[in-house]
Amino acid sequence: MKTSVIGYPRIGKDRELKFASEKYFKGEITESELNETAAAIRADNLKAQKDAGIDFISSNDFSFYDNVLDTAVLFNIIPARYTELGLPSLDTYFAMARGYQGDKGNVKALAMKKWFNTNYHYLVPEISDDTEVKLTGTKPVDEYKEASALGVNTKVAVTGPFTFLKLLRYTGSKTIADYAPVFAAEYVKLINAVAKAGAEWIEFDEPYLVHDLSAEDNKIFKDIYNTILGSKGSVKVLLQTYFGDIRDIYSEVTALAFDGIGLDFIEGKKTLELVKSNGFPADKLLFAGVVNGKNIWKNNYEKTLGIIDEIKAAAGEDNIVVNTSCSLLHVPYTLASETKLTDEYKKHFAFAEEKLPELVQIASLAVNKDEAVLEANRKLHESRVNAYDAKVQERVKNIKDSDYTRLPEFAEREKIQKARFNLPLFPTTTIGSFPQTADVRKNRQDFRKGNISEEEYVNFNKNKIAECIKLQEEIGLDVLVHGEFERNDMVEYFGEHLEGYLFTEKAWVQSYGTRCVKPPFIWGDVSRKEAITVKWSAFAKSCTDKEVKGMLTGPVTILNWSFHREDISIKESTLQIALAIRDEVLDLEANGINIIQIDEAALREKLPLRKSDWYSEYLDWAIPAFRLVTSGVKPETQIHTHMCYSEFTDIIPAIDAMDADVITFEASRSDLLILDSLKENNFKTEVGPGVYDIHSPRVPSVDEIVTALTKMRAKIDDSKLWVNPDCGLKTRGNEETVKSLKNLVEAAKKLR
Ligand code: GLN
Ligand code: ZN
Repeated sequence: MKTSVIGYPRIGKDRELKFASEKYFKGEITESELNETAAAIRADNLKAQKDAGIDFISSNDFSFYDNVLDTAVLFNIIPARYTELGLPSLDTYFAMARGYQGDKGNVKALAMKKWFNTNYHYLVPEISDDTEVKLTGTKPVDEYKEASALGVNTKVAVTGPFTFLKLLRYTGSKTIADYAPVFAAEYVKLINAVAKAGAEWIEFDEPYLVHDLSAEDNKIFKDIYNTILGSKGSVKVLLQTYFGDIRDIYSEVTALAFDGIGLDFIEGKKTLELVKSNGFPADKLLFAGVVNGKNIWKNNYEKTLGIIDEIKAAAGEDNIVVNTSCSLLHVPYTLASETKLTDEYKKHFAFAEEKLPELVQIASLAVNKDEAVLEANRKLHESRVNAYDAKVQERVKNIKDSDYTRLPEFAEREKIQKARFNLPLFPTTTIGSFPQTADVRKNRQDFRKGNISEEEYVNFNKNKIAECIKLQEEIGLDVLVHGEFERNDMVEYFGEHLEGYLFTEKAWVQSYGTRCVKPPFIWGDVSRKEAITVKWSAFAKSCTDKEVKGMLTGPVTILNWSFHREDISIKESTLQIALAIRDEVLDLEANGINIIQIDEAALREKLPLRKSDWYSEYLDWAIPAFRLVTSGVKPETQIHTHMCYSEFTDIIPAIDAMDADVITFEASRSDLLILDSLKENNFKTEVGPGVYDIHSPRVPSVDEIVTALTKMRAKIDDSKLWVNPDCGLKTRGNEETVKSLKNLVEAAKKLR
């Protein structure tokens, strides 16, 4: 049985591409030096896959920034504002990715969006009525040739036309239907170019097919591929899907003249059923995604072979290729870089490099079941040190329905809290963090490295908190925060204080462009070792007569920004985390913290791609998990939550069902569209739609904030409107923060 990999991480084992790109941006290295780094990474990646014995290796999976952007440039979809800068082509590309500010002009970057249900972000290309779509780039051909020269025969991987068309932003009056035939013709030219270079296979990535599809979508897809497949000549075409199943178009896809079809058996809940009940054409290869490209655990061979056996019955043994479920872009490079994790833990993980021999081993086991190998794998999965905690499991089992409901109901609580806090109309507050200046980060680092004592570390933070409280009093804010000086990252901080978590040194994953994240691993049952934030919040409260908001991260966000377990459901893990955070909430309340914010910045992250699965697969437990955290507090304790990074106009009812007392969110960049949705849905929770964008150092004027608030007042009852920035201030400097907040307070006063 053969093996395949959809794509490989490309940031470099030691994030070489990130550092080289950043140097290039600063003008410290030349384009050819940057190219050298990139070529070395590509060569390493190819070699790793070839040495492991992978049969189908992708070229063109590399990107300087993002593959969707690469595809846009490949077909000349470059808005005029970027070409007009008159920059060399690589710099035009980076201008689209990052914006440009310099002697040639000043333009913003293209919009960035979450890549399906991952934490990777792509750039949203823009197409206008006069864009001339034509194959002008050569990247796929160049990278194919480069690989060939290195002795690696590759399949050329390209974003497929349907997915690309669905992700585009149409700025004129033309639509996807107008552009579909044009793209089909240009993709045919691409196939010809690739064929001329000698490629045997071209892979079209079409993850968009895992969404709910309309009849029109189906038609567009078929029309495009009828054209493409009708003139593909001798090149073989692999249609690669991932991140789910293709239930709305399975029979159409299998009826088309593809030479191979890639299906996801990990996230595609219905994939196996589709193959079994509809069969699979004998004249095509089935690229079976059975090795998880999104998670870091060693494969469970028995389970995987079970799936392969069922596929064999439907598709025939000779037609199966063992594949990753999606690109390995979403996992770290290699376990070899981890020096601190002991073998006891390490042996359970497989990052990109370790998934390669796994693919090969599975392919061989599928033909010849080597009992010894299977037994070793079985044992591995049974033997996990420090993973299980009977008490935690028991606690989850004993959760009662009533634990998910806070009483009395919101309207009643709102009255009690208004009387208790007696805040002015349009109360002002912030989202939690204050600027993380160099001294704040140094204090944490010094403590981490053992250069300063715990006492010194704590005293430094207490001074910062006292200063921060004083500053907020001077500015005139109504509800204060402690400033979060003890936190590096809102998830990592809690992970480090919870039992059941593991941390890595170099397990970086690309989030967008040169940005990488290092998600912690949920290793076992999660519980709280001891109170986490109480000492900081209580100290802050001791510095002022005003209310200080306690600041926690919610269970869904903690889970969504960690690598999760595969031996229990994410629902179960989330409930464990919820119980731990619930204990923290109750401790804060017992220590005089009367307002507590529980951030759910990443609530939407694992929302299923199919709308039809939103509630049944996710919101039906994610929202209750949040409520479990808060249901134990007194009616007079005020619960806030905060959300950002994503649209949530379409899940407003679910957000209201979180049953918080106040929600603050990022609104300044989404043109306040969300306000209409709040009104339509009769949103009951009090709201603080951010009145200015903290992602930019710009100081908003009083007038500007008044204008934003005036718009909000048209849709939100005065008695429910809070005034705050749209997210935490940690990435900002002190100067602009103070000015902005003063204006914010001034604006609220004007309205009062
Ligand atoms: N409380 C956090 C902060 O202010 C929230 C961060 C976030 O929403 N991403 O930094
Ligand atoms: Zn935020």
